[in-house]
Amino acid sequence: MRTMTAYTHLLGTGASISDPHRTTTMLALSDDAHSRSSLLVDCGGDALQRWQAVGGTFQEIAGLILTHRHPDHISGLPLLMEKLWLSDRDGDLPVCGYPATLDQARRCMKAFAPVTAGWEGMPELIAHEVEGQPGATVWTDAPWHITSAPVSHGDTPTFGLRVAHESGAVVAYSCDTAPCDAVVKLAEGADLLIHEATGAGPGHSSMVEAADIARAAGVDRLVLVHLPPGPKHEPLEAARDVFPETTLGVEGKSYSIA
Ligand SMILES: [Zn+2]
Repeated sequence: MRTMTAYTHLLGTGASISDPHRTTTMLALSDDAHSRSSLLVDCGGDALQRWQAVGGTFQEIAGLILTHRHPDHISGLPLLMEKLWLSDRDGDLPVCGYPATLDQARRCMKAFAPVTAGWEGMPELIAHEVEGQPGATVWTDAPWHITSAPVSHGDTPTFGLRVAHESGAVVAYSCDTAPCDAVVKLAEGADLLIHEATGAGPGHSSMVEAADIARAAGVDRLVLVHLPPGPKHEPLEAARDVFPETTLGVEGKSYSIA
């Protein structure tokens, strides 16, 4: 039997306000068979501490994907860069995002410029602009082929992701969005769909709405993230009536991909 080497990690599973044991929603991808191939997705909290908690090392981080510019997805960036600077990881950091998101990232770093100006060897952000059309490329270095599509999150440019591993396994991530066809397409036939479940409302989805998307996309499993405080049992049961293979995201849990 082949040993599994590739994983999706839930570094955080909460909404901007969440339960005491959930931080903001952040993901990571790793594959032990490829050196320096791990990717972080969003950093609205202390992403690197959560990365260490799932066994990750700084050296193996290849890049950062920023889905959109809201504080609960991006505000940990200056801390992340300080940690990379102080760590044994060398080299700059590729950061992928829409132009508006990358502008926000630069402003976040600029806020600390008077402090960091004298920090010799501070890594630079290497901006990789993601185009706005469905199917736009985000990352193509092995073992990943990652594409994106704009999702429905108010007037904030936001993308969801389709992460294809070289083994053929596929993981999709909705990011923050109202239920939309773009996520159905991103998740078509995926092994795992990670979908937000902040609750019904503008720019967000309920657990049942996420289950509808999972069913329409024909995925194997649905994991719910971006969870707000409050009772979860009843909405989860309602979602399972629509799509039985639905679970709540577990903080710090790693899901094998291949
Ligand atoms: Zn958001």
